[in-house]
Parts: sequence; C-alpha cells; structure tokens
Amino acid sequence: MPAPDLSSQTFDRLQDALVRLGEPAFRGRQIFSWLHKKNAVSYSEMTDLSRDLRVRLKEAAPLHSLEITGRQEADDGTVKFRYRLADAQEVEGVFMPEERRSTLCISTQVGCGMGCKFCATATMGFRRNLTAGEITGQLEAAKRKLGEPISNVVFMGMGEPLANLEAVLAAVDILLHSHGHHMSRRHVTVSTAGLVPAMEEFIHRTPVKLAVSLNATTNKVRDRLMPINKKYPIESLLECCRHLPLRHTDRITFEYVMLDGINDSQEDAHRLIRILRGIRCKVNLIPFNPFSGLSYRRPNEDTVEIFQETVAAAGITVMTRKSRGHSLQGACGQLVVGEK
Ligand code: SF4
Repeated sequence: MPAPDLSSQTFDRLQDALVRLGEPAFRGRQIFSWLHKKNAVSYSEMTDLSRDLRVRLKEAAPLHSLEITGRQEADDGTVKFRYRLADAQEVEGVFMPEERRSTLCISTQVGCGMGCKFCATATMGFRRNLTAGEITGQLEAAKRKLGEPISNVVFMGMGEPLANLEAVLAAVDILLHSHGHHMSRRHVTVSTAGLVPAMEEFIHRTPVKLAVSLNATTNKVRDRLMPINKKYPIESLLECCRHLPLRHTDRITFEYVMLDGINDSQEDAHRLIRILRGIRCKVNLIPFNPFSGLSYRRPNEDTVEIFQETVAAAGITVMTRKSRGHSLQGACGQLVVGEK
C-alpha cells in the first residue's frame, strides 16, 4: 500500500488518517496546522507531537514539500517561481504584488491537455495531475521564500483546474480552512477553459469564485483557438453560466485574451455584449502576451481601449488586465517547462 500523503488531505480526512494510524483525531488538527498554517516542511518542526510519533510518521507518511528551483523577478515586482515536485517534474507560478493585495497564480497540472492555441503551456501536452498537496504546496513554498503573506490565489497557472477536480476541491478546502491558510472565499478564483459538467459540480461543491476563459464571440473563432469548444460550444457554455446558482453578489469573470485581427473588432465587442446578456459577470480583457513560435500578435492599445469602452457602455464591468511579468515570460499563458 502506498504511504498516505498527509499534505493532500482535507482537515476531516487528515483527522481520519491519524485515527487509522492509531492516534487521536486532534493530532490531525495539529499536523494540518503545521503543514498549511505554519508552513512546516518536516515532522521535526512539529514540536507539539511526541518524538516517538514524529519518528513513526516520518516512516509511515513521508512528506515531500515542493522545492523552488527557479526565481526570476521583473522590474514591476512580479516574481516567477519554478517548483520541483517529488518526481522531479516541474511547474511554474507567478507572484504579483500590488499596493493593497498580493496574488499568487498557481498550477494544477504538469502541462495541459486542452491545447489552446494561444498558450505556451499547451505546447507541453498533458503530463500529469498535481495532488492537492502539490497545489497548496506552491503557496506554502512561495510564502516561505517571500517571507510575507499572500492575500489572493488564482488557479490560472499550468493546467485546466476542472480536469483535476477532486484535487482542486481538496486544495481549495485547505486554503479556506481556519486551521489551514484561512483565506477568504472571495480571494480565491478558479479558472476553466469551459468544462461544462465540471463547472456545475464545482459551483455546488465550493464557495470560491469561478472564471471562464472565453476568448471569442463565435464558435468559428473559438473552435480554432480552443479545441474544447467543439465539445462544449459557446451556447452550451453560456447557458451553463446563465443557470449556475451563484452566491448573492458573486459574478462570473470572463477572461478574454485579445488577439490582433482575430477577436478584437468592434463586431466582436457588440457580439460579446449580446452573448453575455442575462449572466451576472464581469470581463477581463487580456492583451495577448506573445511568445516564440506563435504568429498571434498583441492588438495595439487603441484597439483594446475602444473595445473596453464599447463593452463598458453596455453596463458590463470590464477591465484590461495589466500585463505582469511579461519580461520574464511569466505573463498569462506564457508558463512552460521543458521535458523531464
Ligand atoms: S489556456 Fe489554460 S486550459 Fe488552455 S492550454 Fe493553456 S493552461 Fe490549458
């Protein structure tokens, strides 16, 4: 039987795991807090456990914390991290400090199988899912390295989060739990390329926010950019969004990567207004961040501004995302690591 992976367990499951190891349930609470609140990387740090228990746990359930093997910092304070996992695979993520908050963008898979044409991660293909412990481990490793709190987490790094739903839900549970990272649900956002059935399940099982990577206003263009659209075309994706039981003031965020001459016209802006009608939402425009090997171009600033004004004039909240970490290939859709 494989050794239990304690860092991937939700609070309740960790207590059960400790009971199975012949310990009282409250030991689970202590270990959960050491791992996810105090960022411990070894049992030897867990000083309120007996020496005997620490030795037994080291044997029965070894810990594998993520190691940061790369750190690049841009002039705007953005930091791109590269993390090594226990099997030597690597993922990347990005820390973005702002005046009143700081955000960590984290990965959920090594590579990605969704094949979006504007995304560097897609060129890696899908290698494997991350465990819940590897997902939250990125936050824990970044906090240790930076020595400062991180207020927001977005699941927008490598991978399609909803294709790794159980691990993502467990990771969210660890982020929100009062003995874990104790984050506000409003400060956690999970993004999807549009896996419709998993979106419904996600909203029913967790209170955090959902973002949908839309990127086109017609099926013809979205089919070209995002192969998932052939399975779940725009109509079924938006119909799902229209009927998701969102909490009170919550809105769905639609991410819209703007590509010069592909999806940035005034017709697109007007179509976007039409197709989003009846959905509680806001729109994030993301001017494309070019990377080598792709012929897509970033639209000029005027085009982006006019597009934004048109959408805003229809009463939709719309922002243009400032490109962060562009100089270190850490901007949206630019994360990629080589073969292992
Ligand atoms: S944009 Fe997201 S879903 Fe699409 S290939 Fe890239 S990582 Fe995967």
